[in-house]
Amino acid sequence: MAEEVYDGIIVGGGHNGLILQAYLARAGLRTLMVEKNPHVGGGLATVEDNLHPGFRHNIHAAFLHGLSAMPWYRDLELEQHGVRTVQPDLNVALIQQSGRTLRWYLDLNRTCASIAEFSKKDAETWRHITEEYGEMVEKIVEPELAAPPLPREEKRALLERSALGLKYLEIEALSPREFIENHFDNVAVRALLLHLCVIRELDVHAPNQGGVIPSFIAARTRAELAVGGSAAVAQGLRKAVEAAGGEIWEGQTIRAITVELGVATGIQLADGRQVKARAFVASNLNPHQTLQELVGMDRLNPMTRVGLRSYLYQIVGPLFGVHLSLNEPPRYTARTTHPDLDQAFLTILGLESPEQIYGLQARFRKGEPASRKVIWGTTPTAFDPSQAPAGKHTAFMWEKVPYLLTGRAENWDQAKLPRIGEILEYWRAFAPNLTESAILRRLAYSPLDTERHLPNMARGDPGVGWLGVEQRGINRPFPGMPPYQTGIAGLYLCGACTHPGGNITGLPGYNAARIIAEDLHLAPWWHPSDLETLWGSLP
Ligand SMILES: Cc1cc2nc3c(=O)[nH]c(=O)nc-3n(C[C@H](O)[C@H](O)[C@H](O)COP(=O)(O)OP(=O)(O)OC[C@H]3O[C@@H](n4cnc5c(N)ncnc54)[C@H](O)[C@@H]3O)c2cc1C
Repeated sequence: MAEEVYDGIIVGGGHNGLILQAYLARAGLRTLMVEKNPHVGGGLATVEDNLHPGFRHNIHAAFLHGLSAMPWYRDLELEQHGVRTVQPDLNVALIQQSGRTLRWYLDLNRTCASIAEFSKKDAETWRHITEEYGEMVEKIVEPELAAPPLPREEKRALLERSALGLKYLEIEALSPREFIENHFDNVAVRALLLHLCVIRELDVHAPNQGGVIPSFIAARTRAELAVGGSAAVAQGLRKAVEAAGGEIWEGQTIRAITVELGVATGIQLADGRQVKARAFVASNLNPHQTLQELVGMDRLNPMTRVGLRSYLYQIVGPLFGVHLSLNEPPRYTARTTHPDLDQAFLTILGLESPEQIYGLQARFRKGEPASRKVIWGTTPTAFDPSQAPAGKHTAFMWEKVPYLLTGRAENWDQAKLPRIGEILEYWRAFAPNLTESAILRRLAYSPLDTERHLPNMARGDPGVGWLGVEQRGINRPFPGMPPYQTGIAGLYLCGACTHPGGNITGLPGYNAARIIAEDLHLAPWWHPSDLETLWGSLP
């Protein structure tokens, strides 16, 4: 069988792999992406209800934080490739069982007015953080995510030179929980911020993440929704890859990454075909899939083997999702006092106190669900009618659940139906119009379904790896290993298991493209940020 040869091969077609491929294809390399599913995109997945055509469900990522402000969104000209996003004004709404609501708008004054209904002091603190920390978020927190991580001592030395950097180092040492408890008094405000950490796959107890909360509050960007569904972003990335000459093979299973004399030289497909890579292989998969399954433990160096053995997935990561095809949108009882709740984007139901979040780790370790349910989701068709037939709607709610349900992930297959019923019943307590006659179809996805669809998300972890100190920044995925490298020459990691981690940020792929370009002595056609210069000149 004739061998095919490319400069670079990308294993797995998540958004990170697509971004990496688009950059390197545009830099002049002949690239191939191989994806096992029928469509690229990974977590950017929109599926049509097969019984009710025209209802489109975003079964994984739906809240795209600051998407249109990402450097790759601009560089890869995604809008010219058909991508459109909406940034809803009432961006986050917490509806409590009593009907009280905490509302976070694009407009700071309206947000503070809502917080003041819970605590005047917390509303002032919120305003203060927005005003005081904006520069820090813009010049330190966000650039750090969009650049390969620096060694800790180097980072500290650079930041210690400025007042802004020193202030950042002081808060960075804290865990999100500590930052929240140090700054906010009200339980609803605290719970909301903690919940945002949890749904972005952060460990609220892990130190060295104190910059996270100011970055939520003071960021200039908010959650966005992709018009046409999240898969439309993947299609835009695909067009960017193809416009640059990159090739994509879908529905193809990879059996192995070939390594010869310690160098990655290509891949082998399940049908026996070999595809050669002259310069690099980059994997969008998790470290266990990439190194243990596709390369083989016997080919790894001792440091990588140790790193693999200790690499952890997030216990409070997995999600159970219920997606509805609807005759009418959910109408929350709380809209009688706040009619704009019909247009709330991230809608959280039943979050009353921080204890609901603090208790999750311990319960999930025992395979038990949360003691008091919190669900969150949205009605995409409230912002983008194209995701359902005319006059109809889609809506979904997610809940954090343990991966091992009473000891076994397989238990999810039997537990799915009753779980859908429980979530619906809970949802109806807030939106009583969700009666049987309003619902045309209900689809549900357990953590086990997520793992089957996207094995990269091992143990159903959407973030593809815990974000504790040992697996953050320069330590991600393995302490002691240069970022995006694997210990095998020419083999790179570019997915959510690398800095800065999971979610639809595209930054792991963006940063990995820079590292590979540097290793191949390719001058980047884009303008990656330079932390040394930026942080060296802070006020
Ligand atoms: C239910 C759910 C809800 C989520 N909601 C949000 C949200 O609202 N906002 C947000 O920002 N993030 C959300 N996430 C997280 C987000 O989807 C992920 O963090 C993100 O998709 C990771 O991107 P990635 O490119 O690194 O990997 P992935 O998206 O996992 O892509 C990896 C790709 O590799 C492919 N693959 C796997 N194994 C192989 C193989 N052996 N051979 C070839 N291909 C292979 C997979 O099919 C997949 O296409 C959610 C995740 C889940 C599960």
